[in-house]
Amino acid sequence: MDYNKLADLLFPDVDKETSYYEDLYPPRNLPEGAMVTRFAPSPTGFVHFGGLFPVLVCERLAHQSGGVFYLRIEDTDSKREVEGAEKDIINAFETFGIKFDESVVHGGSYGPYRQSDRRDIYRCYAKKLVSEGKAYPCFCTAEELSELRERQEAAKVVPGYYGEYVKCRDLTYEQVKKNIDAGKPFVLRFKSFGDSRNKIKFTDLVKGTIEITENDIDHVLLKSDGMPTYHLAHAVDDHLMHTTHVVRGEEWLSSLPYHIQLFRAFDFRLPKYLHISQLMRLAEVEEDGIVKQVKKKLSKRDKGAGLTSYIGEGYAPECVIEYVMTLLNSNFEEWRKANPFAPIEDFKFSVKKMSASGSLFDLKKLEDVSKNVLSRFSADEIYERVAAWSSVYDKEFNLLLTSDPDYAKRILAIGRGGNKPRKDFALYSEVKGYMGFFYDSLFEVSDSIPDNFKKEDIKNAIDLFIKGYDENDDRQTWFDKIKDVAAGIGYCPDMKAYKAAPDRYPGHVGDVSMFLRIAVTGRMNSPDMYDVMNILGKSRVVSRLEAFKNTL
Ligand code: GLU
Repeated sequence: MDYNKLADLLFPDVDKETSYYEDLYPPRNLPEGAMVTRFAPSPTGFVHFGGLFPVLVCERLAHQSGGVFYLRIEDTDSKREVEGAEKDIINAFETFGIKFDESVVHGGSYGPYRQSDRRDIYRCYAKKLVSEGKAYPCFCTAEELSELRERQEAAKVVPGYYGEYVKCRDLTYEQVKKNIDAGKPFVLRFKSFGDSRNKIKFTDLVKGTIEITENDIDHVLLKSDGMPTYHLAHAVDDHLMHTTHVVRGEEWLSSLPYHIQLFRAFDFRLPKYLHISQLMRLAEVEEDGIVKQVKKKLSKRDKGAGLTSYIGEGYAPECVIEYVMTLLNSNFEEWRKANPFAPIEDFKFSVKKMSASGSLFDLKKLEDVSKNVLSRFSADEIYERVAAWSSVYDKEFNLLLTSDPDYAKRILAIGRGGNKPRKDFALYSEVKGYMGFFYDSLFEVSDSIPDNFKKEDIKNAIDLFIKGYDENDDRQTWFDKIKDVAAGIGYCPDMKAYKAAPDRYPGHVGDVSMFLRIAVTGRMNSPDMYDVMNILGKSRVVSRLEAFKNTL
């Protein structure tokens, strides 16, 4: 068989040699050891939270090594295509601080970055395979293929176009020509050279060395409309775009034997692979009346599956990234403890520290991490971020905040900056609840003083406090005055003395503080009362105390 003649017959539209593209996309001019990575989603219109894992790995590996991280849109399956999806993907990741170096939007010298725009390239490479006898046209109809599937199911054998089930592999040139002249549609199939009795050994950088069954299926390279399948397209693209490391979900592991064959058939250099486990969540299932916890895939319908939903809910992008990093690299938390204020980019991300078994999505952990991250921001940084977030998601609160930025910043500065900063909120959406009482329009008394205290004592304590209150008192003087108030109403001014003989007093200085706290903040728990009163200012403090007294 003259394969060149067959190639010309099948690809009358292809007028270039692959060398044309090899010259057009020469090796990248990058420093030694630089990695080239890509995120290659199909634009389905939904950006999954799980995507953050491979994307962060790609981004870190590329940028840490002085390499390139690009976005390639894999839209050869046009039925699934969604308008505007590319911009959404880019925006979603950029919101989390992850930038692509090359993409449909950013441009770059190795484009086009959308597979549907690369049809000519794929066809040129497909033609090359045909001319080397490594691919062939298959004229089997949909009916023939479904009949084949049924036969294989009945015989309980692996389904697919392989071995004895292959029909079109050995068609002569004349047979092919006749079919083409008759206008019969065809797909192009890969002439697999594998044997399912063999195993191949392969080393994945995350999963380690694995053995997988060799591929013996003659998979489809080009569909009947002339467009490539993902398999052909990604191999050609990763070669021409000079991808050094492929980071993707472990669901692609089973296609790897085929991909390896494809790379070999083209004589392309095989990139390194990192197959990442699916993100799981814990779900409760009932079995025989017993509730059990099982691991399930975080699916599109689950809460928290949409990447951008985190922003609306009030998670700071920095917190989400920090959380993902704790899952991706086992030594990250230790590093963070040693370097609490260092930018996350200073952490040396390492493939070796990735877990092969994958991660469990845990909201509680995300919250803990978030509290830590937010506690490290300065008051100014928190203010800017909460103001920006609330301008979109809580306009009413935004007006209060921005009407007096200095006031808001003084509130946010409470307990910040020291070795043990306060950790009051995990989300921007919790800030209003935390500091709302500083604003009269949001202030309400939600906690009450336990019944065992006499109303008269509370009233007297408030009166005495107001009488002695001086805004200019330092912390110690302010507190000494509260002790005096306690003594003035017959409560024990000293905690130690109280503990030694609790029956001798109706209460202690801490109870007096509690009365004042509930009157002024409306709650049992609040930040430091000295700071709170200083920020609120004397007239607000006194009027709240008076108002509270009147409710007793
Ligand atoms: N387009 C594939 C997907 O949607 C990408 C697989 C790969 O990264 O090679 O997951």
